[in-house]
Amino acid sequence: MSILVFYSEFDSFEQWSTLLAPHLPGVTLCRAEEVQNDDEVHFALVWKPPHGFFAPYRNLKLLINLGAGVDSLVGRDDLPDIPIVRLSDPHMARMMASFVLFAVLRYVRDIPAFERAQRERRWHYLHPRSPETVRVGVLGLGELGAHTALELARQGLDVRGWSRSQKNIDGITCSSGIDALDAFLAGSDILVVMLPLTPQTQGLLSAERLARLPHGCAFINVSRGAIVDQVALTQALQRGQIAEATLDVFDREPLPPEDALWGMENVLITPHLASVAIPASAAPQVAANIQRAARGEAVLHQVFPQQGY
Ligand code: NDP
Repeated sequence: MSILVFYSEFDSFEQWSTLLAPHLPGVTLCRAEEVQNDDEVHFALVWKPPHGFFAPYRNLKLLINLGAGVDSLVGRDDLPDIPIVRLSDPHMARMMASFVLFAVLRYVRDIPAFERAQRERRWHYLHPRSPETVRVGVLGLGELGAHTALELARQGLDVRGWSRSQKNIDGITCSSGIDALDAFLAGSDILVVMLPLTPQTQGLLSAERLARLPHGCAFINVSRGAIVDQVALTQALQRGQIAEATLDVFDREPLPPEDALWGMENVLITPHLASVAIPASAAPQVAANIQRAARGEAVLHQVFPQQGY
């Protein structure tokens, strides 16, 4: 008997249970409070479980994070010493890419200027730019970032990507490492932040680094708010050094009602939903990883707490 214990205040137990059951004969999916024998719990599927959650489960073999972002998990001091994996879902990558595509193309095609002109009943002709003249910098070329960068390149944009280790992606100009960051920022007319939040990326986009961006650039953050100095970002937007921003994530969520960003014409705010896990498309990958762990094989999409992602 093997138990997969489930914990999430946001995800539907019934939905996950229905989707996983056909793939996992011999494994019972239970909520934590329904587990009768803790020693039979071999797998955990969780989103932000309370501190100490894992302690009773001495025979745990695999911990699955119910999301792509693992910053709320990897910093904990109560993690069992077992493989940890994240959701990896092609539909999640597609949803993220479509959100970023929308945000980038909105700037490439000067839509905010037309929205403002329309409010003033003003015919405001701006000649469209050729996409290859617009430099889009994507910070982070992981599962979501690389897919997004390729979708942007398909639009004919001049796409550059930056990551920790050097990548080689057809159609994307890749650079890597902290020494390359300032030049990367200086060459981004539109910057898209797609890095995980780790001790190395927290506050990475400081006031000094934001000042490296070309005057009048656009800024899009779809990963985590704390990667950016939000006060410095707000000031750069007020001065016009950064002309426009699309922000899906913030250092405090929900963004407090008194925050200056709410009232800024050049800022589009969305409430942390650029992409979400889609259980129907993620379930086969979750089940495959459980089967691998059960057979003692290496798991896929592993997360390394010491690395932070
Ligand atoms: P991955 O973990 O697959 O990739 C992370 C990328 O960032 C890799 O290319 C990695 O480099 C790079 N990176 C990490 N640390 C550094 C560093 N110190 N310096 C330079 N590059 C670094 O992440 P995903 O692409 O799957 O997701 C990105 C983030 O998006 C998630 O961590 C999550 O926070 C966020 N997210 C937001 C959602 C939303 O709705 N707003 C939804 C889902 C996720 P390398 O390739 O060399 O390892």
